[in-house]
Amino acid sequence: MSLRVYNTLTQKKEPFEPLNPPKVGIYLCGPTVYKPSHIGHAVGPVIFDVIKRYLVHKGYEVTFVVNITDVDDKLIVEAEAQGTTVPELAERVTANYLNGINRLGVDSIDIMPKASEHIGDIVKTIEKLIANGYAYAVDGDVYFDVSKDEDYGKLSNRKLDDQNTHREVVGEEQKRNPGDFALWKSSKPDEPADVRYDSPWGSGRPGWHIECSAMSSRYLGDSFDIHGGGIDLIFPHHENEIAQSESASGKPFAKYWFHNGLTRFNTKKVSKSDTSMQEALKKMTLSTLLDEHGGELLRYFLISTQYRRPIEFSDTELEAKKKGLSNFYRLFERTERVCGKSAYTDPAVRGEEWSKAPKSEFADFAKDVDHHTERFFAAMDDDFNTAGAAAACYEMTTRINRFIEEQNLEAGGSEAAKTTAYAATRAMMDLGRMHGLFMKPPEKAGGGGEAVGKLMTVLIDARAMAKKAKQFEIADHIRDELKAAGVTLEDRPDGTLWRME
Ligand SMILES: [Zn+2]
Repeated sequence: MSLRVYNTLTQKKEPFEPLNPPKVGIYLCGPTVYKPSHIGHAVGPVIFDVIKRYLVHKGYEVTFVVNITDVDDKLIVEAEAQGTTVPELAERVTANYLNGINRLGVDSIDIMPKASEHIGDIVKTIEKLIANGYAYAVDGDVYFDVSKDEDYGKLSNRKLDDQNTHREVVGEEQKRNPGDFALWKSSKPDEPADVRYDSPWGSGRPGWHIECSAMSSRYLGDSFDIHGGGIDLIFPHHENEIAQSESASGKPFAKYWFHNGLTRFNTKKVSKSDTSMQEALKKMTLSTLLDEHGGELLRYFLISTQYRRPIEFSDTELEAKKKGLSNFYRLFERTERVCGKSAYTDPAVRGEEWSKAPKSEFADFAKDVDHHTERFFAAMDDDFNTAGAAAACYEMTTRINRFIEEQNLEAGGSEAAKTTAYAATRAMMDLGRMHGLFMKPPEKAGGGGEAVGKLMTVLIDARAMAKKAKQFEIADHIRDELKAAGVTLEDRPDGTLWRME
C-alpha cells in the first residue's frame, strides 16, 4: 500500500514521493516564545511527531526541524510588560514549551533553530532578494515587493487585488504596494540593545516570515519535502515564506504543505454547566493540563482526530478519551495477569511476537487481528488518518478481550492460547507505539507512586477485614468513596486490584 497525502498547495491528495528518497525533510513552524504554551501549541508537535514515526516505519530517513521564534515584536511588548529582558523571557518560555512537548512524548525533533542565532542567514537571504529585484530598502526598513512575484498567492489562492484592500499599517506608508511585507524592521530609538541586530540597512531585527525562510533552507536546503503548521498560518505567513524562498533561490520551496486543524472550544455540544469549564480551559496552560491529565491522555486526545480537522476540546471529549485509553491499559494489565509477563517489557520489534505465535490453532482470531492491523495501515496511508488507525487499535483490543474470554484464560486455558493472546496484545501495542503511545506503563494520576501503592494496600486490607466481619456498610463505603476519588476496585479470585481512572 502506498502513502497518499493531502497537499494544501495542490488542494488534493497525492502519492507521497519525496525529492531525494530515502531522505525526507520536514519543517514545522514552532512557537513565538512570549507566553506559556497552551493546548494549541501541542497540536503541531504531536501530529508531526506521529508523521515522522510513520515515515520512519516506511523506511525514510527523516530530518525534522521545528523553529523557535525568539525575535518578534510580541516578545518586546511582553518583556516590557513583565519588566524583564527579551532574552530572559524567551529562555523561560522556550523551556516551558520544551517541557510541555517532552511530557507529550514528542522526542523526534532533530533540530530546533532559534531566530536570534540565525541573523546572519536571515541577512544573506534578504540581500539575495534585493539583488534579485524582489525587495527594496527604505529608511532602514526592507520590504518584499509582492507585485514582482508573479505567482504570489498560490498557496492561499488569494489574488493581489484581495490583499490591496488590507488596512494600511501606521508607519508603513513608505511601502510600494499595500500587500508588501517587512523583511527587516529598523530599531526604534527607545528599544533595548538586546533586540538590535546589525545589518547593511542599519540596526534592526528581522520580520517573522523571513526567519522561517532562512532557517528552513539552512537545515533542509532550498527545496525540501514537507512544510507544516497550523491552518491559520497559510496566509500570510506561509504564503510569504514561499514568496521569499522561491524568489531568493529561484527553486521550488516545499513540495508538500500539511496544515493541521486548530483546537476549538466547542460550547454547543456540552451542557450549560460545562460552559464555565470551557472558559476555564481556554485559559489553561499546557502545563496545567499536563499536570491534571498526563501526557499520554492529551496525546491520545490530539491524535483521535484526523490532523487536518479541527479538534473539539471539551471536558466531555477529554473524559470520553480517558475511558478509551483506560480500556487499553486494562487489556495490558489483563494480558500480564493471564500470560504472566508484561507487554511493556519486550523490545519493540513490530509484529515479531505475532509472526511466531502458534496462532494457526485460532484461525478466526488470527484473521481478525490481521484485519484490524491492515485497517490501521490503510488509515495511516490515507493522509495519516490517526483517528481511523486508533479506532482499529481499539477494536483489536475488544477482540483480544473476547479471545481471552473464549479461551477461558482467566481460569487457566492452554499455553498456545496464552502465547497467542500475548502476541496479539504486543502486535496492537506496536501499532499504538507508531502513534507514540504505550511507550511505558501509564503514570498513576496523582503521582504519589510508591506511597499511594502502600496506602491502597492498607485500604484494600481494611475493606477485606470489614467484609470478613460482615460489616458490608463499611466495605461498601470504602469502595464508593474511592470510586468518587477516581480509584476503581476490581475483586478477583486472587485478590483485589485497583486502578486510577
Ligand atoms: Zn514559519
